[in-house]
Parts: sequence; structure tokens; C-alpha cells
Amino acid sequence: MTNTLEPTLTGGGPLDDARTQLREATTILGFDDGLYEMLATPRREVTVSIPLRRDNGDTELLVGHRVQHNFSRGPAKGGLRYSPDVNLDEVRALAMWMTWKCALLDVPYGGAKGGVRIDPRHYSQAELERVTRRYTSEISPLIGPERDIPAPDIGTDEQTMAWLMDTYSVQQGHTVLGVTTGKPVSLGGSLGRATATSRGVVHVALAALRSRGIDPDGATAAVQGFGKVGRYAARFLAEAGVRVVAVSDQYGAIGSHTGLHIPSVEKHVDAHGSVVGFPAGEEVDDVLTLDVDLLVPAAVEGVIHSGNADRIRARVIVEGANGPTTPEADAILQVAGALVVPDILANAGGVVVSYFEWVQANQAFWWSADEVETKLADRMTTAWDRVTEHATRFDLPLRTAATCLAVERVAQAHLLRGLYP
Ligand code: NAD
Repeated sequence: MTNTLEPTLTGGGPLDDARTQLREATTILGFDDGLYEMLATPRREVTVSIPLRRDNGDTELLVGHRVQHNFSRGPAKGGLRYSPDVNLDEVRALAMWMTWKCALLDVPYGGAKGGVRIDPRHYSQAELERVTRRYTSEISPLIGPERDIPAPDIGTDEQTMAWLMDTYSVQQGHTVLGVTTGKPVSLGGSLGRATATSRGVVHVALAALRSRGIDPDGATAAVQGFGKVGRYAARFLAEAGVRVVAVSDQYGAIGSHTGLHIPSVEKHVDAHGSVVGFPAGEEVDDVLTLDVDLLVPAAVEGVIHSGNADRIRARVIVEGANGPTTPEADAILQVAGALVVPDILANAGGVVVSYFEWVQANQAFWWSADEVETKLADRMTTAWDRVTEHATRFDLPLRTAATCLAVERVAQAHLLRGLYP
């Protein structure tokens, strides 16, 4: 069997990384090439054009994608990204990682991802609303509470999800809260969803530090990215007693040897749109290579690669972002003895609470913040225990152990359902 879904970019990038990780897992699991190809190839994907009427009257054509990698275990699930760098292969990789993440956390979903090639910083709210509505309309035959449930990702937020939900609902003729997660709480969102990914990252980060004999209280950390994931990860780490000595965003990095006061950094970002210029911080060249106990990459994929992996000095790396470490870098870090907690485990808190939100929306019955937090902590701890146990038992790096557990679960669903016709 060959992969006939073209065009595909070649020569590295997240899709190659995702397929390399899958190949390693299927080899360990003893799966044949046919099963590998099936799991390496998206089940369904669509590319749409989005004509946008700009505020000045001009028309601009944008491109969007939605990829459903797998839905053997339930509806497809995955974020919607607005970024100038979006391309189909990136979306395919992100969709595949979503499949493994949902399986690993035993959330009854498959994996999907969407993206629109746009730099949202250069568009007005009215323009972004028109983009979102047109994109939603174009992909609406594919999505729905039982088919595919988008959520926020880079460059999108709860307002984007409110527009998406409204557009889909208008087309259906009734309000469909379960078509998306990450909605505003006043519109069927879940308490705790906005911070869920970061809460999960921190649950796992604290466990990972302890597993290496490092007391989180007073340990040092650097966080790359100060968006929806990085910002709250930094905040919760600091609240847990970790000294966050550096944070960064796409404009630059700041640091302080004594630890940054994260609430003040957040205020600065709200006022100025970036961490850069934070008065109580010094400029930092590269957050990734600082000598810290914990590094949380929470920005984009591929930032830790063969060109810089040998300069990474963090003892523990917890992947807030999806795909921040390439397989070549993984191998270098493994030899150096660093502990890498993979994305499909570390940042799964978002999809776990998305699942809780979908359950609540479908039942029109909402839970307390405490209930959400407790159930999230329980899921993250269970997954951490399972992955570390498997890794120890079979002497595998955490990523390989996590991918094997997830891929096996998805393959089991395939085998039980059988091949149609
Ligand atoms: P976001 O758009 O809210 O924030 C992204 C942040 O990264 C911004 O601060 C941006 O300035 C920064 N950034 C971008 N490029 C950078 C670079 N080269 N160096 C340093 N900083 C850079 O996005 P987000 O939702 O926080 O997502 C971040 C990562 O986490 C992505 O990989 C995403 O797929 C992943 N993720 C997000 C969620 C979620 O619930 N939002 C869940 C799981 C995984």
C-alpha cells in the first residue's frame, strides 16, 4: 500500500517527524507495513479557499485545511490554527499527534487538526470573524459533535470558537454547543478549559522533576512561548514554587536569575503585547539553552533540532507545544540523559477538558471548577503513571513508550471493527 494523498512536502518537517515516531512504534509492536501505512495516512482531508472581503473593500484569497487523521475510537478532535506558516503537511502531523494523544488519555476521540494560512495580527476582528465564518461554512459537512470537534490552537481563541459554533448552528437551524470546545464559559464552555493545557503541563512537569530527584520548590525553569499554554504554565509553575528564570515569545526573551514575577509579566504582556521590555527583567538570547532544571517549549514545532540539541542543558523537558523536538534531537537528548516528556502526554490536559466540555454541552449540565480540576488531575496522573511504568518495564524513552501505548490502542480499535467492506 502506498500513500496516495498528495501533494506532500518532503525533506523534513513535522509530518516526517510524526511518521518516524509512528514507524518506530509499529516496529516495536510488530505491526505490518499495511497497518503502518493506514495509521500514517489521514482518513479524510479537505483544502478550502476562503475569499475574504477586507475592511477597505479589497478581496483577498486565503487557504484553509481540515485533516481528520483517524476516527476509529470516536469523533475526530483537534485544534484550529491561524498562522502564516500553516501548510497541509503540518496539519497532517498535528492531526496524527491528536489521534495518539486522545488514545493515550483514553478520551473517546480520534485526531484532527485545522489551519488557515493567515497572520491574525494583521487583520481586524471583523475580518477574522468573516474568515472564521467562511472557513466553518466550507468545512461544515465534515464537522459536528459526532463527527469532528474543533478547538482553539495557535492564533485562535474562545471568540473564534463562538463564531464557529454560531455559524454551524445557523446552518443547522438550531444551537449546537457540542460542535466545538474552548468556547466562552457563558456560551457552553467548561470552567477550567482555558487553563487546562497548562494545568496538565504543570501536573506532569512536577511529577517529572520529582522522578529525577529534583524538588520542584526552588527548581529553575524556562518557558518558550507566552500564549495560551506558556503563560499559564509559567504562572502555575511559579505558584508551585518553581523559579521561572526566563520566558519568551516570538518577539524576544526576558529573564531574571532570582525568578520572574509572573503576574507582573502577564500585566506587561496585556499592556504591550509582548514580554519584551518587561522592566524587571534582563534580555535573554535563547531560552532553550539556559542551564535550568526544567524547560517547557510552548510555542511551535521543530524548535529543538539536530542543530541545537547538544546545547540544551535542561535536565527535564516537558513539551507544552506539539512536536517541538525532532527525532534527531530526541536521540541527542537521550544520550545526554535529559528526560523528555512528550507532547502527547504533557499537553493533553487541553483535550481532556475539551472532552469534559463536550460531555457537559451534550448533556446541558455543567460541572463545578473543582470537579473539572480533580478529574483532570486524575487523568493526567494516571497517564503519567502508565507511560512511566511502560517505559521502565521495556526500557524505552517516554515518547516511545507513550506512542506505543497510544498506537496499540488505536490499532486494537481497527482490528476489532475490521476492514470494510
Ligand atoms: P498561542 O497562539 O496562544 O501562543 C503561541 C505563543 O508562542 C505566543 O506567545 C507566540 O508569540 C509564541 N511564539 C511563536 N513562535 C515563537 C518562537 N519561534 N519563539 C518563541 N515564541 C514563539 O498558541 P497556544 O495555544 O499557546 O499554542 C502553543 C503550542 O501549544 C502549539 O504547539 C499548540 O499546538 C500547542 N497546544 C495548544 C493547546 C491549547 O489548548 N491551546 C493544547 C495542546 C497543545
